[in-house]
Amino acid sequence: MSNQIPAKRERIIGRFDGAEGGPLLIAIGAMHGNEPAGVLAVEQLLEMLAFERINRPDFMYRGRFVGVIGNRQAYAKKRRFIQEDLNRSLSPDRVAALKAEGELQDEELEAYELTQTIRAEISNYQPSHVVVLDLHTTTADGGVFSIVDDSPGARAIALDLRAPVILGMLDGISGTSLHYFTTANLGVSTVSLVFESGQHDDPLSVDRAVSALVKTMRSIGSVHPRDVEGRHDDILKASTEGLPYLVRFALSHSITVEDKFIMRPGYRNFDPIKKDEHLADDANGEVLSPKDGLIVMPLYQKQGDDGFFIVDEL
Ligand SMILES: [Zn+2]
Repeated sequence: MSNQIPAKRERIIGRFDGAEGGPLLIAIGAMHGNEPAGVLAVEQLLEMLAFERINRPDFMYRGRFVGVIGNRQAYAKKRRFIQEDLNRSLSPDRVAALKAEGELQDEELEAYELTQTIRAEISNYQPSHVVVLDLHTTTADGGVFSIVDDSPGARAIALDLRAPVILGMLDGISGTSLHYFTTANLGVSTVSLVFESGQHDDPLSVDRAVSALVKTMRSIGSVHPRDVEGRHDDILKASTEGLPYLVRFALSHSITVEDKFIMRPGYRNFDPIKKDEHLADDANGEVLSPKDGLIVMPLYQKQGDDGFFIVDEL
């Protein structure tokens, strides 16, 4: 592994092949270009795996691990996206209609290349099942949690990460990685989850993403529990003290640039909010909370399609 970071990165960050067959674990970093933690975590993990293989003869990996960059163009520019949010552009119908590679631009090109790359990895390896871990960070503090569809497989992996798990989010948004990387759409047994590892530029966000990857490898049987250090459990536990265990999506506050949405300062992920609480301001005046609940992903950056989400504790 080279430590140099070229101006424009290859889509594939790297691969690690186990001596035994097993699941294909695909980690996506920088689905949003201003979120480098996932890419850095994949690089660290690839180095850790290579080190284990050389220094520990009894280290065993089952399956294959592949790390990919989500939005290459936005990552090169350190922006969330170029024209539109890649993680809202992945609805299966829309991606299937993207054909003329030479004429595609911006996020359409990214969506096409990313999905083609992952499909090629699957067809090369022919795994019995696929696990997609999409690594993100947030602008607000307290943002260590996972988002899953309601499948038992994804929920089990997410609960083992010991960070809050958000269910039902797929009803509130569309075109995300969780909508695209499904068994029905890929034709192979697939489990997908999103892991949010903290604030964009917090170095701990990289450590937490590494720990989430290692714990996922343990959950899916790619590494033996004896080979997983306790610090990976500790680092996630320490970051989620006092946060709820399981929550369900209630509503999202969608915005456009014309709304001139400005979140009021100080909100952290999973802060309790009350109905009619003054959460933000926009072109029409005050934005009040429609209900009691917990706030998630309050928007403190310029680019974004959602001002905030509200979830209910289960
Ligand atoms: Zn993100």
